[in-house]
Amino acid sequence: MPKITRTKEEWKKLLPPENFHVLIEKGTEPPFTGKFYKHKKEGVYVCAGCGQELFKSDTKYDSGSGWPSFWTPVSLDNVDLKPDHSSGMERIEVVCSKCGGHLGHVFDDSPRPTGQRFCINSLSLDFKVGHS
Ligand code: FE
Repeated sequence: MPKITRTKEEWKKLLPPENFHVLIEKGTEPPFTGKFYKHKKEGVYVCAGCGQELFKSDTKYDSGSGWPSFWTPVSLDNVDLKPDHSSGMERIEVVCSKCGGHLGHVFDDSPRPTGQRFCINSLSLDFKVGHS
């Protein structure tokens, strides 16, 4: 269960509309448009909803998908995985374990050590340089 629970109306007041659409309405940013897609700085990506640390820059890789891709989260405790049957597809949704915000989906097609590709919207993320 998320540790931060807010109503949609509360989130709407806190977040810019484009972040609200992805994090709370489970939207998807258009591929190849996100500000972190080609971002290569060293640091840690945190939740744009609550600031929880989610992914480290050294686990980011270029999957060619058009969205920031990571082969593992900071900790499996920091994300929750949920079956997602929307849009006529069977997928696994990735949400922030602290605030419940929608992050993206995880797929089993990564060439990296875990075999997993966490396909994450830039609009669900903020970035902290150099931390941890
Ligand atoms: Fe969060």
